[in-house]
Amino acid sequence: METDAIRSTVVLKGIGVSPGIVSGRAYVLDFKDVETHRYKLGNDKIVSEEIERFRKALKDSEEELLAIRENLEDSEGIGPLFIDVHVMILKDGRFIQKTMDNIKEGRINAEWALGKVISEYRQVFEKIKDGYIKERIKDVEDVAQRIFRNLSGDKLESISDIKEEVIIIARDLSPADTVQMTADKVLGFATDVGSKTSHTAIVARSMEIPASVGLENVTAEVATGDTVIIDGTSGMVIINPDPEILKRYEEKKKYYMVMEEGLLKGASLPAKTKDGYSIGIGANIEFIEEIPSAVAHGANGVGLYRTEFIYINKESLPTEDEHFYHYKSIVEGKGIKWSTIRTFDLGGDKFISDPRLADEMNPAMGLRAVRYCLREVGLFKVQIRAILRASAYGNTGILIPMISGLEEIRAVKKIIAESKEELKKEGIPFSSEIKLGIMIEVPSAVVIAEDLAKEVDFFSIGTNDLIQYSLAIDRVNERVDYLYKPCHPAILRLIRQVVDAGHREGIKVAMCGEMAGDPVCTLILLGFELDGLSMTPLAIPRVKKIIRESTQKESKELLERLMSFSGTREIEEYLRNYMSKRFPDECPISYE
Ligand code: PEP
Ligand code: MG
Repeated sequence: METDAIRSTVVLKGIGVSPGIVSGRAYVLDFKDVETHRYKLGNDKIVSEEIERFRKALKDSEEELLAIRENLEDSEGIGPLFIDVHVMILKDGRFIQKTMDNIKEGRINAEWALGKVISEYRQVFEKIKDGYIKERIKDVEDVAQRIFRNLSGDKLESISDIKEEVIIIARDLSPADTVQMTADKVLGFATDVGSKTSHTAIVARSMEIPASVGLENVTAEVATGDTVIIDGTSGMVIINPDPEILKRYEEKKKYYMVMEEGLLKGASLPAKTKDGYSIGIGANIEFIEEIPSAVAHGANGVGLYRTEFIYINKESLPTEDEHFYHYKSIVEGKGIKWSTIRTFDLGGDKFISDPRLADEMNPAMGLRAVRYCLREVGLFKVQIRAILRASAYGNTGILIPMISGLEEIRAVKKIIAESKEELKKEGIPFSSEIKLGIMIEVPSAVVIAEDLAKEVDFFSIGTNDLIQYSLAIDRVNERVDYLYKPCHPAILRLIRQVVDAGHREGIKVAMCGEMAGDPVCTLILLGFELDGLSMTPLAIPRVKKIIRESTQKESKELLERLMSFSGTREIEEYLRNYMSKRFPDECPISYE
């Protein structure tokens, strides 16, 4: 119950899924399922009236959906697609006929009749093997809830009814809810459930609405009208902040916005130093929906597409055509000039719902990535064929993760050659120019980099794993997080070794680990003479700006100075000091 008393500040930590800071009035959306009642119908007249009542609820539901579609700002994105699917379900002849038959034959009310149909659908969907299709029962249930609500005469609480700027608080939001959000009304949202990879998070990122999910009990803590701050980067949600906190966040918000605005303006400028050294800038993406944002932030290519995310929420393997659809969407993405598609990096810290990957004692060093693919050649070939097919549509590279020795890359090359032969025989086009690269993320690959370079067209250094394996630090264990140091002298020396070995063999060397997007490290990466950097899209403008404002000469001098130190702390302190003085906006002292 609301009281007039000043409610105290509550801070919750969730998963930041879409960056940015917002503060505003909370609007708690309560999407409770409609309560339905069951009753028997009397005479034929009542049965026909019931059928009419059902028809009207269908019509009202369709009108609601069409109105939502009409009001969507983006008429071509994934938003309208979700709505179209719901309209299709609503118009499905069998769905309607079965409900009407139930009303007539069983002489039961429409809610009961529809409930029976949904329960039959549920049983059928349960048996479906393809995880993606299996999940579509959720769409059927969503549509049924809409019909139930219209049958009951209750008004459906909808995001489209919101008339003022608010922060939405909900237990969960379906993608259909999220696509109705417009930046002028929905400042941000926070939900009890969800993860970084949920569809709702994907939509939030592509619409650039700050969001935090997985807060567990945010709906219990917030009442409509409360003041809420959402920090979509850290995942922090502050409910009823005291004036001091509010002021601090208002400043943080202003700073963030000014920075973003300024940075975005220059985002499309080339990544070229004052003395003419150019470096390729790519985006690391997990979903095809991220492409427009990647391009807006200044990427002209995709440096790392983590294809394992195609597996999200899936229990079965994607088909070749499903793979192809994703890869072609990237290769043909507007503003994308080149793409690097990494083959599955399943296992390790990556989620996997494929039962074929058994629990392992030590998954980071287990049957993961290319090891798994070489064991499951059938699965691997499906992916390779799809990437080859996509290469017919634009400049494409295949990137193989976790290579630890020569035999692995040779085995991969054999499979690629076989797949090319198959496609040729089938008359399916692919580009003969397609490049093959490997991730350098296992220390043994660094040691034999020169031999590996003879086998491939490019290297991409995966610092996330390279640091994990060479410093023996589990990258997902927060207890050893303090040891996770990109500027450890051993890491710097390993990077130098890889770049030099690659260049000696005449191939390009890029970096796609998180280090590539850390502005504090930009100058040293320039100093190594890396040919490309690929990073999360939001990091691109800052990194590009630093590149444009420096010279390669400066970067080399800084790097040499740092390489002369033997302790990590010395390197870190010198570097932080240097970068925060030289680039106070891009590398502020408090910047994390
Ligand atoms: C890496 O290891 O640095 C990398 C880019 O790959 P991932 O983070 O997907 O393991
Ligand atoms: Mg990796």
